Amino acid sequence: MFSGGVCSWAAAKRVVGWHGTDGVVLLFADTKMEDEDLYRFIDQAAANVGAPLVKIADGRTPWEVMRDHHSFAGNRMDFCSKELKRDLLDEWRDEHGTPEQTTIYLGLDWTEQHRVDRVNARCKPWVYKAPMAEAPHLTKDQMLAELKTQGICPPRLYGMGFPHNNCGGFCVKAGQAHFAHLLRTMPDRYRFHEEKEAELRKTVGDYAILRDRTGGVAKPITLAELRRRIESQQEFDAFEWGGCGCAIE
Ligand code: SF4
Repeated sequence: MFSGGVCSWAAAKRVVGWHGTDGVVLLFADTKMEDEDLYRFIDQAAANVGAPLVKIADGRTPWEVMRDHHSFAGNRMDFCSKELKRDLLDEWRDEHGTPEQTTIYLGLDWTEQHRVDRVNARCKPWVYKAPMAEAPHLTKDQMLAELKTQGICPPRLYGMGFPHNNCGGFCVKAGQAHFAHLLRTMPDRYRFHEEKEAELRKTVGDYAILRDRTGGVAKPITLAELRRRIESQQEFDAFEWGGCGCAIE
């Protein structure tokens, strides 16, 4: 499973180092809302690994999936990840492999063994492994440095301070700090998501991606309101980055 993150590349390199490229397929599920540089990276990274890259897509973006569900996706209901990634990847796996003959490798590192365990529990009898969870253990910075030694420029979102290279720096599971970072680094992209959120709110009511937990009660805070707070130098939660785990959980 080749997501466009540096750990996917490092995992694929380890796999072909162990077993060669025979029978290896790099499988990428496109959410149609990726950063433009992801496509440059994934093509170069796959060429460097030396195995065929297969790109699959539902065709909808996360916003279009939310529109179809008449609901916001989030941590507890990540149907964007389910329909644009997990279901597609599972279908492709079922069509092209067998549990007895196929191993699925994940781009997760040594801090994420709990995710590997969860996906194995969910997907039995298929076997999932995470080569970068094994020794020698590398940090993300070490993987990025290794990538550069191979002559590949890392995905630009890492250099811009984003923790992952999914959905172009957007995620329904991200928090206020993450969206503040998106506003700082890519205001036009932030505006796009702000408009999409406003559009969806017209049909689903007073819901939003983000929560305001001021005073101990969680209530929706829109991207428009977060932008207003940031621009008027009001407080926001500068520590709430949120997680992703897209395609895995
Ligand atoms: S990265 Fe976030 S928004 Fe994008 S598909 Fe995954 S869970 Fe949904």
